[in-house]
Amino acid sequence: MKKILIGTHNSGKFKEISYLLLKKIRKISPKQLKINSPKETGKTFAENAKLKANYFYNASKLPVISDDSGLCIKALNNKPGIHSARWAKKHGSFSKAMKIILKRMKYKKNRSAIFVCSLSFKNPKKKIINSIGKIKGTISHKMVGNKGFGYDPIFIPLKKRKTFGEMKPSQKYKMDHRYQAFKKIRKFL
Ligand code: IMP
Repeated sequence: MKKILIGTHNSGKFKEISYLLLKKIRKISPKQLKINSPKETGKTFAENAKLKANYFYNASKLPVISDDSGLCIKALNNKPGIHSARWAKKHGSFSKAMKIILKRMKYKKNRSAIFVCSLSFKNPKKKIINSIGKIKGTISHKMVGNKGFGYDPIFIPLKKRKTFGEMKPSQKYKMDHRYQAFKKIRKFL
């Protein structure tokens, strides 16, 4: 495989998936090809990741890797979950969405959360390949760190003291939900 379309308009995800792929593969973004994102009509991470892979493949005819991911917080009935991006949009920004989460979590004893990522790889003429990756952690008491993207400043992975927002990208990329999902499909790429 010489080139691949990374099916996302999210620059944080694009950087991370690029890092995971072999250097010699040319990484193309939907923006470069002027392709918009599809509507996320799936009910699960897996459904949305597949839907994106098929959509971007049909629009580009290139091999595609796509991701659907989100943060599931136990005390908030696993919200924002598959609505993680839409939730931030609804509240105006990630910073506002995180403030609301921290407020709702103020008196919660159980701060456990999990980041989930479903990856789909669509290669012309071959069956679509899917995988799920997860990382457990807790929600911090305040936003810390300005690295990464999305909800990184409030998520502390299990057995670590820093939020994803405080970690060097290379440290986060080697442990998170996207990496866990990628490990399972790496051999097909
Ligand atoms: P979607 O997969 O395009 O629906 O967007 C997933 C959303 O989940 C992102 O916009 C982020 O808000 C959040 N998210 C997914 N993965 C991460 C991550 O690694 N760090 C921080 N936020 C993430």
